[in-house]
Formats: sequence, C-alpha cells, structure tokens
Amino acid sequence: MQRAGTRRLRRPLRVVEAFVLMGITVATVFLASVFGYGVFAQDETDSTGDQAENVIFVLGDGLGPAHRDAIQLSKVGPYDRLTMDRLPYQGMVGTNAEDPETFVTDSAAGATSLATGVKTYNDSINVDNGGDRLTSIMKQAKAQGKAIGVVTTSQVTDASPAAFGGASVPDRDAQSEIARQLIEDVKVDVILGGGEDYWYPEGNEGAYPDDPADEEVSQSNRGNLVNRARNLGYEYVSDPADLNGADSRKILGLFANEEMFEQNPEGEGDVYDPDPTLPKMTRKAISVLSKDPQGFFLFAEEEAVDEMSHNNNGRLMLKSGRAMDRTVSEAKFYADGNDETLLITTADHECGGLTVESIDDPEYPDESGGNEGNENANLSTEDGPFEVANSDYQMILDWTTTGHTGVDVPLTASGPGARNLVGNYENTEVYDVMAETLGFPKAQRTASAN
Ligand SMILES: [Zn+2]
Repeated sequence: MQRAGTRRLRRPLRVVEAFVLMGITVATVFLASVFGYGVFAQDETDSTGDQAENVIFVLGDGLGPAHRDAIQLSKVGPYDRLTMDRLPYQGMVGTNAEDPETFVTDSAAGATSLATGVKTYNDSINVDNGGDRLTSIMKQAKAQGKAIGVVTTSQVTDASPAAFGGASVPDRDAQSEIARQLIEDVKVDVILGGGEDYWYPEGNEGAYPDDPADEEVSQSNRGNLVNRARNLGYEYVSDPADLNGADSRKILGLFANEEMFEQNPEGEGDVYDPDPTLPKMTRKAISVLSKDPQGFFLFAEEEAVDEMSHNNNGRLMLKSGRAMDRTVSEAKFYADGNDETLLITTADHECGGLTVESIDDPEYPDESGGNEGNENANLSTEDGPFEVANSDYQMILDWTTTGHTGVDVPLTASGPGARNLVGNYENTEVYDVMAETLGFPKAQRTASAN
C-alpha cells in the first residue's frame, strides 16, 4: 500500500524508474504492457492499491486552464509550477450540462455531475432531468461511516458545497432548505464558510449584522437553523478567532452574511480577504475529520475564482487563485503523510473565457469587445498589466465574456486511484473513479417527494 515515496517523484524520474524495473524481469514488462506504467507506482504484491480511505477534493470554481497558467505566472513565474500542477496525474474534464437550453453548465449542474456521476439541468442540486433525487459521493461516504466536511469561501449552502454535501433540491436558490438537509438529513460533520443569512430567520441578524444596502439580510424560511444545529450537537462558531479552539467532532462555522469576499469589478468595492482563510479552514477541517477511524471525505472550494472572473477582476481572481493553491498545499501536506488519501483538484467549469497575453504589442492590439450597448461591454477586455513573479515580465489577462464557457478544465490528482483520472473524459467519470476508489457501489436514484 505504500505509495508516498514513489508518488513524490516527478514524471521524468518515473520513466527512469520504469526502465530500471523493466530490466529486472520479463513478467514486469508484461504487466506494464497490460496496465500501463502507472503500475510501477504500485506495490506489485498489492492488488488493492487503488483503494482509498480518504478523499480531499479541492474545487476551484470557474478555474479554467488559462486561470491556472495566470495564477502560476503570478505566484511562481514562467518556469516553475503551482502545487496543484505538481500533483502527478492529470486529466482534462468535459463540463457540459444536460440542460434543455444550453450545454454550458452552471455550478449546480457541474457539481452535481462531479458528485453523483449524473448529468442534469442548470440550477439542479442532485436532482436529475426526470425529477429523481441523486445521492452524492459524500452522502455515500457518511453512510459508510466516514466523517465528511464542506469548506468554502462562498455560502456553505451555495451550489457546489450543497451538491457535494449531499443536499437534494430542484433549485439551488432554496438555500435554507439546503442548510436544513446538510445538518438534519446528511449530518455533515464539519461545515465552514459564509452564508449566515440562510441560517437565521428574518429579524434575527445573527452574528453578522444585516446590510440591506448590500442585500445581505437574514432570510431563513426554515426557522433558526443555528439553534437547530446546536440541538443536533454542533459546536457553532462565528468569530474567526474561535475556530482554532473548537474541539468538537461536529462544527458549524459561519463567517459572513453571504460570500466571504466582495465580488465587484476592480476598484468598485472589490475585496478578497477571507477570515479565516480557505487554507486555514481546510487545515482545521482535516484535523477534525481525520480523527474518524473509518476515514473521511473533505470538499474544499475557492469560490472567488469564479465570482471575480464574472467581474473580469484579474487582480482578485489571481489573489484568490494563489489562496487556492495554498489550500492544495494544506491538503497535500496531509496526503503526503497519509498515503490512503486520494487528493483531487479541478473545476466545475471555466469562467470568463480567459487567456494570458504579453503586455501590449502594437502589432497585435486589443481585439476584444464587440459588446456595444451592453452594460458589460467595458468589462470583457484586456485587464492589467500584472507582475510576473520571479521575472521582469508583465502579463495581460484578456477576458472574452463575463459568463461561463464550455471549455474543458484541468484536473490533477495524487494518491490511490489517481492514475485512473488520466485522460480526457466527462465530469461524471470523476464520480465513477472516486466511488470505485472508495469501494462504493454506484449510487441509486430515489424517486422525488416533490
Ligand atoms: Zn461554478
């Protein structure tokens, strides 16, 4: 089962290793030809090398291929790699939805496909096109005795944590019902992020005062869900300083009325400074969940990559992207010491139609635009310049839309089962590999009560 040593090797070294091993026995060569040389990363006597106890899934909402490149340039420069891009196995994931009006997915359908292995319509949280409820991989993990957690810089009831966390509602806007399901039905052990407004009823401001000017007001239509959580045994924290000291196995931490940042165009009230940070929340969640002897599944999401891309705000897209990479580092630190952990990092879709360019060359002027008369016309354009780390270069981010696009997104992974995520495939296959790696049967659909 040991994999940590070989897993840390980078690909060129594994090739060298492969040739050494190939020289040893003909049988090994035969195995290689049958299974591909991923087999060399396995203990050859271990037929269960693709079984994992734990999964850590880090989602960059809206994080397309050019986002990763831009974040790399901003964080480590032109010739180095992000932690997320150093994970040894890489695939490209198709994100298309099965929506009657468009193939371009929203976060709800995208996360549902990743979490359940089923394509569906936009706005759906774990409900298929026939109206049946779908069971998420984390709900399955809970049923198998594992501890589960969702961590996000968005509302904890936003589309991606809702779908992974195992809620099931026909429309993603039902955030208080999602909150109720997370604590009462699925019993998610650790819930950390924003979105307090959906836990307190109108008139009860909660820990973060209402801000009607910013449309941030308590609006739960399922009663006081914080009290409900307390009655169910959750330790509730709202002060970032209290998160460290929380010592329960069930924690609900809500640290903002809505998102833990302000998504706006640059210079128009845009803020990305979550407290606690996503890496810090992730570290805490891992320390709590990993106490479960039967293993755990943690879903951690950086939402601001998507929201800042919607606003074509390159500066804060880059800042949140760097925070996401530190989050992957937190997860990798745990996975390096616990080799029964499958670590996956990917996106639900691309956002912004982004590409990366050098600073203006008079021979190739800005070719963006074409949106005259649209209020967003001034947004979908060139953005920058931004500094390129460890160099004297600068870069321009060039946006083509303020919405989602249909391009494939990169996935990188390490640990048991990760080699099965190499290739080009639809997002539903990510569920298939996770279920297989955890030893779960394919989840059943259940008839809807709606
Ligand atoms: Zn999304």
